[in-house]
Amino acid sequence: MRLRNITGSREVIAESAYVVHEPKDYKGRWTEIFGNDHKIRIEIGMGKGRFIMDLARMNPDINYVGIEKYSSVLLRGIQKMETEPLPNLYFIRMEAEEITEVFGPGEVDKIYLNFSDPWPKDRHAKRRLPSREFLHRYDEILVKDGVIEFKTDNPDLFRFALDEIEPAGWNLEQMTEDLHHNKEMMKDNVMTEYEEKFSSMGNPIYKYIISR
Ligand code: SAH
Repeated sequence: MRLRNITGSREVIAESAYVVHEPKDYKGRWTEIFGNDHKIRIEIGMGKGRFIMDLARMNPDINYVGIEKYSSVLLRGIQKMETEPLPNLYFIRMEAEEITEVFGPGEVDKIYLNFSDPWPKDRHAKRRLPSREFLHRYDEILVKDGVIEFKTDNPDLFRFALDEIEPAGWNLEQMTEDLHHNKEMMKDNVMTEYEEKFSSMGNPIYKYIISR
C-alpha cells in the first residue's frame, strides 16, 4: 500500500507516543514497553492498522505490535489511535527485513501477514513476506509453538507461500482457498482493510496457518 506522500507524516510519527522509535533498543525487552509480560503478537505490513487495532481492542490481555514501512500509511493508524488509544498496541515504522534486530528469540507469540505485497517478478521473490528467507527470520523470533497466519487474495502469492513451507522447515497446520466459505477457519476471523475490499469484489480469500 502506498499513499500519496503526506507532508509532515514523518514529523507526526517522530512525535507519536504510539510509535516505538528505536525498536532495536528493545530487543529482548519488550515487556518494558508494555509494562507487563503478556504475549506479543505482531502484524507485518499492517497498512492503516484496522486489523491489529480490532484485535487489540478485543484482547486487552494480549500485546500487539503493528509494523509498516511507509510513514504515509502508518500515519492513518496513528490518527486512529489518537481518537481511540489502546494501551496494548504499539506501532513501528520499519522494513521487515530487520525484524530479528527488533525482537529476541521466542519474544513473539504469533505473526500475522495480511495481503502482503506480491512482488510478481521472480528476482524479487526474496522480498515476499512469506518467502523462505523471511520464514527463517520468523523462526528466530517466534516462540517454539508459535504460528504464522497468512491471508491473501493473490493465487500466485499463495501458491508460492505454500511451496516455501517445507523447504524452510515449517509445517502446514490449516489452509483454505476460500476462507469466507470455510466455517471453521472463519470462526474468529477479523477482516483487514484489503480483505474487505477484495472479498467485496468477489475474490476468494486464501489463508494458511503454519508452525514448525
Ligand atoms: N495488512 C493490511 C495492508 C495490506 S497492504 C491489510 O490487509 O489491509 C501491505 C502492506 O504491507 C503495505 O502497507 C506495505 O507498505 C506493507 N509492507 C510490505 N512490505 C513490507 C516490509 N518489507 N516491511 C514493512 N512493511 C511492509
